[in-house]
Amino acid sequence: MNEAGADRRRVPAVHRLLADARIAAAAGDLDRATVKTAIACELDAARAGARPTSYDAIVAAVGERLRAAHARVLQPAINATGVLLHTNLGRAPLAPEALAAIARIAGGYANLEYDLTGGRRGSRHEAIADEVRALTGAEDCVVVGNGAAALLLVLDTFAKGREAIVSRGELIEIGGGFRIPDVLDHSGAALVEVGTTNRTYLRDVERALGPRTALLLRTHRSNFAIEGYVREIVPAELAALGRRQGVAVVEDLGSGAIVDLTEYGLPAERTVGDVLGDGFDLVTFSCDKLLGGPQAGIVAGRRAAVARVRANPLLRALRVDKLTLAALAATLRLHRTHATRAHIPLYRMLGASIASLEARAAAYRAAVPSLQVVPTEARVGAGALPAAVLPSRAVRLAAARPDAVLAALRGAQPPVVARIDGDAVLLDLRTIAPGEDPAAIAALLGATPA
Ligand SMILES: *Cc1c(COP(=O)(O)O)cnc(C)c1O
Repeated sequence: MNEAGADRRRVPAVHRLLADARIAAAAGDLDRATVKTAIACELDAARAGARPTSYDAIVAAVGERLRAAHARVLQPAINATGVLLHTNLGRAPLAPEALAAIARIAGGYANLEYDLTGGRRGSRHEAIADEVRALTGAEDCVVVGNGAAALLLVLDTFAKGREAIVSRGELIEIGGGFRIPDVLDHSGAALVEVGTTNRTYLRDVERALGPRTALLLRTHRSNFAIEGYVREIVPAELAALGRRQGVAVVEDLGSGAIVDLTEYGLPAERTVGDVLGDGFDLVTFSCDKLLGGPQAGIVAGRRAAVARVRANPLLRALRVDKLTLAALAATLRLHRTHATRAHIPLYRMLGASIASLEARAAAYRAAVPSLQVVPTEARVGAGALPAAVLPSRAVRLAAARPDAVLAALRGAQPPVVARIDGDAVLLDLRTIAPGEDPAAIAALLGATPA
């Protein structure tokens, strides 16, 4: 080391690093400024003595930095997990019709809150109201940012400073730390728990009713099941009780099934129409679960109850944008018939036959002979239908270090998110779109030890 000291050590020139093929490969389509910044940071660190100064060590460190920068870019990924609604991977992929609707609206102005018949201010909720009425029997609805916001809005509207009665068996945590008791707490409603974890009767609710009761809340156990010595209140009886007492009755349905899912080989799931048919005033549900649409939440039900929700100033803070509305309206339209529903990726995945999955698996094997084809069980995910398994097929890649293969697949372009099963990596074909097969095969070839 010379007199310049540890902070002036000799490092490679920037242009040499910029021209290095390894750095170019790690940079992918990142812009040049980002690549230069990564190089500059590493050179500074090397000059300051915080890193080795050898050329190869610096190339490796820049490559690491660029790969990390790449991983932070919001980008498409291939879901090979077999979990159809994977919250970390963006839940429901949108139908082509929903994408077209976004493209049609996004680049210009739209009648988002403009009533074209009257030439005056309108409501953004009208964009979906007709479809929601037709599909669920609701008289009216509002749409907000997600299912959690829909529930929060309802609780804030009806139960703030008053009491909400909930069965102990329904005081659930939905995921991501969203717990019913905490949401009630935040909305300023006092929680009145009735019954026991496994058994609650209508008379438990009757006894808890009082002058401060504002709401009877039923939460759908979408992400777990209780079996055995169990008794729950018949929903229609809860609704009738609320009606007699003049207290609002609300169900947080969560997954938001619109149609009977048994025709897709799934267990029967309570639908939005079932809840309203039972006489509930309001139902809240997500739009990116069993509806197969964009992230949003809907509050639907009786006109008078929805009118109170619409008058809540909190609605302004929870409103959705025009892109979401465009995609949601298009998705709802697809639910009108069985044939058009099949355009929604979720329903295409649910409906894919084992024979079609096996045919695709054979194409994977032809390209990567070390693969095996194995039966697997796919899941709906997002807390919907926890007990339901969908028979599926996966390609299995045995590996001495499956975690390294998994990481290599994540580093592919586009990234592939798979899962480990013992000493192998599994790619479940039910959640991979057929159009993604060539990219998934290429990623497998790249990740397979030669
Ligand atoms: C998923 C779910 C929610 C939350 O919906 P998000 O759209 O994820 O905010 C609320 N309640 C139930 C019962 C759910 O299953």
